[in-house]
Amino acid sequence: MTHGSADLSALLPADLPQRRLLRTPVPGPRSRALADRRSAAVAAGVASTLPVYVERAGGGVLVDVDGNSFIDLASGIAVTSVGNASPAVAAAVAAQATAFTHTCFMVAPYEGYVAVCEALGRLTPGDHAKRTVLVNSGAEAVENAVKIARRATGRDAVVVLDHAYHGRTNLTMAMTAKAMPYKTGFGPFAGEVYRVPASYPLREPAPLTGAEAAARATSVIEKQVGADRVACVVVEPVLGEGGFIVPAPGFLPALARWCAENGVLLVADEVQTGFARTGAMFACEHDGVVPDLVAMAKGIAGGLPLGAVTGRAELMDAVHAGGLGGTFGGNPLACAAALATIELYEQADLAAAARRIEERVVTRLRAVAVRAPQVAEVRGRGAMLAIELVRPGSLEPDAAEAARVARACAERGVLVLTCGTYGNVVRLLPPLVIPDALLDEGLDVLEEALLVGAPQAAPV
Ligand SMILES: *Cc1c(COP(=O)(O)O)cnc(C)c1O
Repeated sequence: MTHGSADLSALLPADLPQRRLLRTPVPGPRSRALADRRSAAVAAGVASTLPVYVERAGGGVLVDVDGNSFIDLASGIAVTSVGNASPAVAAAVAAQATAFTHTCFMVAPYEGYVAVCEALGRLTPGDHAKRTVLVNSGAEAVENAVKIARRATGRDAVVVLDHAYHGRTNLTMAMTAKAMPYKTGFGPFAGEVYRVPASYPLREPAPLTGAEAAARATSVIEKQVGADRVACVVVEPVLGEGGFIVPAPGFLPALARWCAENGVLLVADEVQTGFARTGAMFACEHDGVVPDLVAMAKGIAGGLPLGAVTGRAELMDAVHAGGLGGTFGGNPLACAAALATIELYEQADLAAAARRIEERVVTRLRAVAVRAPQVAEVRGRGAMLAIELVRPGSLEPDAAEAARVARACAERGVLVLTCGTYGNVVRLLPPLVIPDALLDEGLDVLEEALLVGAPQAAPV
């Protein structure tokens, strides 16, 4: 089914009403008390979007300690795509927790790890022979993809895109574009990382096809790095933290072609875009691109921490025994959760659910954009959708307006996130199982936030 609605209600926790309900101002008194404890105990460098403390969550709602029920249009940053506390995932984790919680796969292996690797080999793009390593996070997946690419090619240089986000570890900070808050004061950074222009259709000085944008990037590589020094080009098929930027059609295929012609590996960072989020199991599929290595995490395990790199068997197996791994990588609870989660993506066809969400949200937001002069663009893929906000009548980014809209939504019981190199993008990452009525109510609130209190067009 590609249109209309499918009944996904069986995938929601039965005992948690899927509704928006505010019992107190946001934040309420119990959340304010926890905020006081927090500031005396939690490092100030860890920031939170929502000022409330969660007591329960399920499907598409977060319930705070004051009894307020929020519509969740964030999924913990594209993680709980199968819904929070998905009953199938919770049951799989509970069963695994009573069997065993940890052995370390490098010490005493178990079937769950193998089964997750089998599933990822089957689901990632391309029908070549594949191998997989499991890790703990998205940053660790990206780091391992770079290690594997360097070992397999014998080359050092890593090429990344402008607006990229790859994580907060030392190597992935170097690969990430934005200084504040991710890099400022945290250097020196890992070497041999080179940044080239991405395709950002809204902000090109002149219209550029995808092939032209790719040629702009590869000519920088050839002139400033040398193609024969490059181990890999790492790309997010839709730039995530950088602003949900969908490249011009043809950009990724042209980049992939250049990589293949130059012995450079194409690494897809599908940490945010993977697992049905964009309306396909992996976002590369929209462009018909088959990466050599795929880094995954976020949506992989229904909320449990797990990352993975899946790639061509001969590249993955170029690494010597003991060169990959980690104490917790592929933890049995995370593997049990991943197997249950992957089964939901496939059996409930949640990629189709993401496409239905896209149709519903984009139709709605494009209609709002006509009346909201600060909206420069509504864009995204599947259930990875965003609006970029500017000073009316210009392309000047308006981060304050994005923050205002997000805050106004939160105060009215709807969680949305911001992102973007310029901080001026409001993004939506609803759980793919969100009931239509709940999504529509969330959009009502977002619409009002955009239309009421927005900056007016400057007088001419
Ligand atoms: C979130 C993210 C990462 C980092 O993942 P963590 O699990 O936070 O380390 C890497 N790449 C992309 C594209 C991401 O969205």
